[in-house]
Amino acid sequence: MTNKICAGCGQPFEPRPQVPNQAYCPLLACQRARRQRWQRNKMQSDPDYRENQIRSQRAWLDRHPEYWRNYRDSNPEYVERNKSRQRAKQDLRQESDLAKMDVSRFMALRPGLYRIEQILSDDATNGEAWIVEITPVSIGCSCKKDVCKDKT
Ligand SMILES: [Zn+2]
Repeated sequence: MTNKICAGCGQPFEPRPQVPNQAYCPLLACQRARRQRWQRNKMQSDPDYRENQIRSQRAWLDRHPEYWRNYRDSNPEYVERNKSRQRAKQDLRQESDLAKMDVSRFMALRPGLYRIEQILSDDATNGEAWIVEITPVSIGCSCKKDVCKDKT
């Protein structure tokens, strides 16, 4: 009988005959670690899976608004850490807002329909064009759409 070393706890264990490549022992904590590692790999290698995970996580948090409140109540140091991280983010954001404002003033970009043409080189186009709608995302936009929340 060959014993293997668990990738989680480092203890020798006997792999199950059905799972010859078993890397983690049957301990609950090690099985959890195995699943987390699998999930991390999957998140990195599979964009669909990642999308799905993020979406279902958001949906879950929407249904459990008390989760973050409880978490913050029992983890005051997390709140502190997050506050200072957000202050740093805020500084960055203000800088990029300034940059955005300058660009939009320069281009006089207004909400509406714009035509975008693909230009292959300076003197030739391939004749393809798309009609797209460009809606500038304004600073402090109150529409509460995710796209605005993420970009402002
Ligand atoms: Zn183990």
